[in-house]
Amino acid sequence: MRKPLIAGNWKMNGSLALLETMKQALSSARVSSAVDVAIIPPFTLLMSAGKILAGSSAEIGAQTLHPESSGAYTGETSASMLTECGVRYVLVGHSERRTLFAEDDQAVLARVKAALGAGLVPVLCVGETLEEREADRVETVVLGQVGTVIDALSAEERSRLVIAYEPVWAIGTGRTATPDQAQQVHAMIRSWLSDKDPALGEGMRLLYGGSMKADNAADLLSRPDIDGGLIGGASLKPDDFIAICHAAG
Ligand code: PEP
Repeated sequence: MRKPLIAGNWKMNGSLALLETMKQALSSARVSSAVDVAIIPPFTLLMSAGKILAGSSAEIGAQTLHPESSGAYTGETSASMLTECGVRYVLVGHSERRTLFAEDDQAVLARVKAALGAGLVPVLCVGETLEEREADRVETVVLGQVGTVIDALSAEERSRLVIAYEPVWAIGTGRTATPDQAQQVHAMIRSWLSDKDPALGEGMRLLYGGSMKADNAADLLSRPDIDGGLIGGASLKPDDFIAICHAAG
C-alpha cells in the first residue's frame, strides 16, 4: 500500500502568520495518520516552520536546492542546510524552476542526487506543456524527464524518490487535468517504472499537481495510480488545504 502524500507548495508566498494559522488549522482538523502532509514554504520560513509545525501532522519541504554542498554560490542553499532546518522533502524540477531558472534534466538530476545524498526525499516534478500535449508528445516528454533521473540512480536511491506529474498547462491556471487524463499519465509512468523493476513501480508515490482544489481533489485522488497531490494556490488557504488532506485519507 502506498501512503498518500499531500504537499503544499507555497512558492514565493506565505508568512509567519500563515504558518501559525496553518498549525492551528492542522491541529483542530485531525488529519488521518494514513496521510503524509508536507508544507513547503519559502526558504526564509523553513527554520520557523520546523519549530511551529513540530508536533503537528505536517512535515517540512523546501522548494529547491543547489547541487553543491557548499561554496561560492551566492543566494543558493545546499541540501545539508535544508536538513539542518528539519526539512524532509525537497521539490526538484518544478516547471517554474525548469522554465524561469533554466534547469534542464541534467541540472535536475544533480539536485536529486544532492538531495538523496543528504537523506532528503526528492519530489521529482515532471510534466508536458500544452504545445507538447497538442503535438502528442506527452509520453516522450514525461518519460524522458523521469528516465533521465531514474536511469542514473541505484535501486536503493530510486526507492526513496517521489514523483509529481504536473502538466504545465494546469499549474496555476485553474485548468485541472481531468481525472482520466491524470490517471492515464500516472499509469503510463507506473508501467514504465514496473518494466524496470516491479517493486519500484508498485512502491513509487505518484502525486498529481495542477490546480488541485478542495472540490476536485476527491475525484483525482480516487484514481488507482494517483497517490497524492502537490498543491500550489489552494495550499495557501488552510481550510482548502485541509479539505484536500481529508480527501486523501
Ligand atoms: C504547483 O505549483 O506545483 C501547483 C500545482 O500549483 P497550483 O496548484 O496553483 O496549480
